[in-house]
Amino acid sequence: MENFLDEREKQRRMANRRRLKKRAEKLRKIKIYTCMGAVGVIGIALIAWCVTGNNSDDEKKAGGNNTVMVGADATLNSYNEVENTEKDTEKDTEETTEKQYGYGDEVYSDGKFVVCIDPGHGGNDVGCEGIDGSYESDDDLALALLVKQHLEEADVKVIMTRSVDEWVDLADRPYIANKSNADLLVSIHRNSNEEGAVNGVEAWISGKENDNSYEIAKLIMNNLDRVGISRNRGVRSGSMTSEDKDYVVNGKSCMPSVLLEMGFMSSPTDNRLFKQNLEGYAKAIAEAVLQWSETQPY
Ligand SMILES: [Zn+2]
Repeated sequence: MENFLDEREKQRRMANRRRLKKRAEKLRKIKIYTCMGAVGVIGIALIAWCVTGNNSDDEKKAGGNNTVMVGADATLNSYNEVENTEKDTEKDTEETTEKQYGYGDEVYSDGKFVVCIDPGHGGNDVGCEGIDGSYESDDDLALALLVKQHLEEADVKVIMTRSVDEWVDLADRPYIANKSNADLLVSIHRNSNEEGAVNGVEAWISGKENDNSYEIAKLIMNNLDRVGISRNRGVRSGSMTSEDKDYVVNGKSCMPSVLLEMGFMSSPTDNRLFKQNLEGYAKAIAEAVLQWSETQPY
């Protein structure tokens, strides 16, 4: 690990650790305050019950419930605040600098083609929230596991950055792909738009001039288009922030890398298509990878 991390990356990883520590601390405080609040509310309720006797009327019950609800909402908002901070890290980008090279000593692929699949988010970081109350982190994982299954059936070696609902540091995701000497990295996400009128699927690749991810991204998009998507938003380079800033998975990986945005969770059409075509999307992505692998020397 130490050998291939440059100074800048080390500092970034340390900053990430500090951020996670802060987040854990904040969550712990929220929990303590919530417990204290709950104890306080129960205490007041008990005193009120003792003073007024046991024959409380409906009005009092409603008042009591309201007090508890305020506490619960306050907690929810605090958690949302934490989650929103997490969501921001998903859009974290890197200046387009040199990709990192080296390593590849952890996975013995037996000559197989190696693909690293990265389901976005996980754990406390749920990603986008769907209008139907679903979480992006669950959708990302569901599709990623199906892609894995199809690729393994075709004798491809698959490395997952996560296989369950758990948090994985953003910087660790390209690191896992690099360390595994993967031939390709596919990161799976879903999108969201506050106005709700936007829909479609898009693929993001690095904006670096020497990046060679376009072909695989294009193949995936063509295959998904055939299965059925509301709109093909194409292959885009850089990130939403800027063409010069890559998403971390694309910018920090040293192999062709594609970040897929599998439709908008704010769009009922995209949500319906995602559910309906989940299996078809997985096959489409896996088949594009297999088709592309035949053109690659590995
Ligand atoms: Zn995402």
